[in-house]
Amino acid sequence: MAQIIKTDCGLCVNCCGLDVHVEDDRIIKIEGTKEHWLNAGSMCPKGEHLMDWVYSPNRLKYPMKKVNGRFQRISWDQAMDEIAARLNVLKEKYGSHTLMLWTGSVGVEHIEMSYFMQRFRGAFGSPHFYNAEGICFRTRILARQMTFGRCPAEEPRNSNLVILWGNNPDASYFMNGKMIRERVAQGMKLVVIDPRRIPLADHGIYLQPRPGTDCAIALAMMNVIITEELWDKEFVDKWTSGFDKLTEHVKAYTPEQVEIISGVPAADIKNVARLYATTDGSCILEGVCSTNQQINGLQTHRANAILQSITGNVDVPGGWVTTPMLPLTDMRLPVEEKPLGAEEFPVFYQFGKRPAPYGSSSLLTEAIIKEKPYPIKAFINAGGNPAVTFPDTKRFMEAMKNIELNVCIDPFMTETGELADYVLPACTFLEETGVGGFPYCLSHCTPYVMLRKKCIEPLHESKAVWWIYNELGRKLGYEEYFPWKTDEEVVEYLFSKSVIPYQKLVDNPEGRLL
Ligand code: SF4
Repeated sequence: MAQIIKTDCGLCVNCCGLDVHVEDDRIIKIEGTKEHWLNAGSMCPKGEHLMDWVYSPNRLKYPMKKVNGRFQRISWDQAMDEIAARLNVLKEKYGSHTLMLWTGSVGVEHIEMSYFMQRFRGAFGSPHFYNAEGICFRTRILARQMTFGRCPAEEPRNSNLVILWGNNPDASYFMNGKMIRERVAQGMKLVVIDPRRIPLADHGIYLQPRPGTDCAIALAMMNVIITEELWDKEFVDKWTSGFDKLTEHVKAYTPEQVEIISGVPAADIKNVARLYATTDGSCILEGVCSTNQQINGLQTHRANAILQSITGNVDVPGGWVTTPMLPLTDMRLPVEEKPLGAEEFPVFYQFGKRPAPYGSSSLLTEAIIKEKPYPIKAFINAGGNPAVTFPDTKRFMEAMKNIELNVCIDPFMTETGELADYVLPACTFLEETGVGGFPYCLSHCTPYVMLRKKCIEPLHESKAVWWIYNELGRKLGYEEYFPWKTDEEVVEYLFSKSVIPYQKLVDNPEGRLL
């Protein structure tokens, strides 16, 4: 008889609740969990095709090694022995900093993967751990830390006005798109600022800026808010510093001047600034690629954070609010050397007490090609495809030619995998137990955690990513740092210092709000 397993979707940060129907170790149906606080039974098209993904004939089925330019099947034992031996040789020749690890997810969707990678590089003694977030979402986190000393999250479901700024929830946060339409029908005001006219633009005021001019528009909005004395005086007096300097700085950014820069009519900028400043519970929802990945992304996010501040929309319902985080056991091991960018971009590397979990990936390709500050000759990539996603693909490909040991871990063959010496098959999130939900709560302002359950045994010869690093660590002689034998032991360890004990999650398969 079919069993229904309550788990969550690990394909993106939303972590939607899933009901996975399993019979004889085979998934026969996947539905959105109706009682889940976020997706309430719905799934996006990716979620709806999860079974095609899991049972795809294109899954990597066994470890492979490139011999004379072609991949050949090998055993896990051979793969682990040879990779460990090569790592030892390279470490001996170039030092432990010769190893570089890359991952596609820093751990929001797949916490164990990121944690084990960071532990592995620590055990090996390398400072090099990099990922996509370093050239993307980090700008937003940093801008908020610089402005607030912490990183508040948006709470649009309680807002009276939402500005979708380069953010198209229909494409990436489908539940927000649904929620915004419902809230607009109830009277919430909506502004869309986007070079591309998205469907939600039909439901509110639409500004169409030239790409990359968002920061200028934010400064012009501040100009209007300050000139017309619409700022929240009590909040500014009590909680901010430097308002006089800000007033001087934004004088140059009149709506008329910014119309020339952005192409947005001055009258529209004034209108939106007034509406935003005079509505309680206003919330800017920033996009990711559209605003994070601009050359002035950090300053754009700072400007938006300042807009939220001078209008008093911080820690109020519907604004940007501080939410509890669930601390998991920190698996990192200390490394003396610093990663790329620690000297060049010290604020990126460390703002506040803790350094960023990764170095500055924008320096990665040149460091490998020029062998400066030293040769980086071993590259292990898990769950990422930098040959496609990293800026300047040709330069990245050139960098990979300089690598002497290239290992790729993924459920599928990728463009980055094609460049590798060894390809190791990872199982999907439906084939391992792990941390589910959204304990970092940056996405929907709701800290929610659950056990991500193993629904079926790993297909073919695939393995969990944590297991691969655990085994490789043991082969290299780091047994004391890698004692785990099962998924459950790993998750129990991660929750061992948490306010929510592991057993509570076992007893509550549908998860818990913090
Ligand atoms: S939105 Fe993300 S978490 Fe939800 S079903 Fe789609 S891919 Fe999965």
